[in-house]
Amino acid sequence: MAFPLSIQQRAQPTTRAFAVLCVLLPSSFAAAHYAPALPLGAVAQPAQQFGLPFAGAPGPDSWLLGQSYGSTTGAYRQRRSTYGNLQGIHAGLDFSAPCGTPVRAIGDGVVAEVDGPHGSLPHNVVIDHAGNLSSLYGHLLQRASLRPGQKVTRGQVIGQSGDSQGTCISAPHLHLELRDRAHQRFFNPLPYIAADWNTLALAGSFGRGYEYDLSAPRKWQTPDSQPPALRGGRLLNEFARPWPPAPGGAR
Ligand SMILES: [Zn+2]
Repeated sequence: MAFPLSIQQRAQPTTRAFAVLCVLLPSSFAAAHYAPALPLGAVAQPAQQFGLPFAGAPGPDSWLLGQSYGSTTGAYRQRRSTYGNLQGIHAGLDFSAPCGTPVRAIGDGVVAEVDGPHGSLPHNVVIDHAGNLSSLYGHLLQRASLRPGQKVTRGQVIGQSGDSQGTCISAPHLHLELRDRAHQRFFNPLPYIAADWNTLALAGSFGRGYEYDLSAPRKWQTPDSQPPALRGGRLLNEFARPWPPAPGGAR
């Protein structure tokens, strides 16, 4: 499974570049799109109310869970850069998939944004769902032929998966996030999506792939024990004894 691992390693420079772009955007631009976080009580609790963004069986020629949501090693290493505004958390699920794989709405909803300002270039879609939840589908291959306000149904094809680097050979994957509708809170999609996650997490490219804090070595080490993230909150993974250490000896 070395191929998907190299995918993720190569994906990082583009993600980092995008993070830099976000930082450089005028604060007034960002403020225009960020309403206050919704109170947690106003957001639907997880009840496996959504489906997977791909049809058919997972596999090396179709789609696989590549990187989990949470305090992954990849997110830890970029906690002060790419993920610095997300408390150091990889705030979505990465599904490795060949470019052009049809991406499906995880639930009934209304298209909120097509190529909106909420990340995951080059193309993305945001769908608003019941319960003040929104799903974001990132790194799409091309601009989706949807319009804001359009209703979509669960399983409907809403785009094609792409590559965060735009090559279709370096980092082809879908980045899927589940947020509150104000785009302030980020939730682990696992308990919201009905799927055989135990198998998917084993078959995926990275195994568990979580950064250890050897001071609390069992903390956040499973796919379903990852913390929610709040935009702009303090870093959650400034670990006292991180393992594996960051390359070059940096913490
Ligand atoms: Zn991702």
